[in-house]
Amino acid sequence: MPSLASPLTSAEQLSRKAERTKQAIDNRHLLHEHSAVRKRLGSRSSFLDTSEALETTPTDARTTEWQKQWNSLGSQAAQWKERGITPDECLATGHDQPWAVWKTLNRLRVGEGRCKASMKKWNITTSDACACGEPQTMEHLMNCTQAPQCTGDDLAEPTAAALACANHWKDEI
Ligand SMILES: [Zn+2]
Repeated sequence: MPSLASPLTSAEQLSRKAERTKQAIDNRHLLHEHSAVRKRLGSRSSFLDTSEALETTPTDARTTEWQKQWNSLGSQAAQWKERGITPDECLATGHDQPWAVWKTLNRLRVGEGRCKASMKKWNITTSDACACGEPQTMEHLMNCTQAPQCTGDDLAEPTAAALACANHWKDEI
């Protein structure tokens, strides 16, 4: 009969079997009539099995992890920083503006939003043309000749130019 490889010695296996037997038949055993919880997914394992205690406060641990991921973004994170988005637990500047304006400022800052180029990429529209005729990327929204223009520095403040630009695009993106 082929033997199965096991990390347990035969004495240990025997000891387990003896304990298992007592558990099954002896009503004085602490785990008598107890059935083990079936493990379904790795992610359902007890946190006791899969985690270690923190060495700092949860806030510090969370911020450290966030900054580590932020730093791994390289030039993208550098551009966000220039435009006023920083890895801190505080609101980005312009939060005193109406929500739609602040949302638009943040979309311009990170370069993600419902510009025509993105809408085309997402198969929501077939054309990426702006009203001015140029392809309407997120970067284009800051330079469109038919709208108020602004720079990354304007977005960081935000200056009057950035607010005018965000106000112009707030219902579109
Ligand atoms: Zn345009």
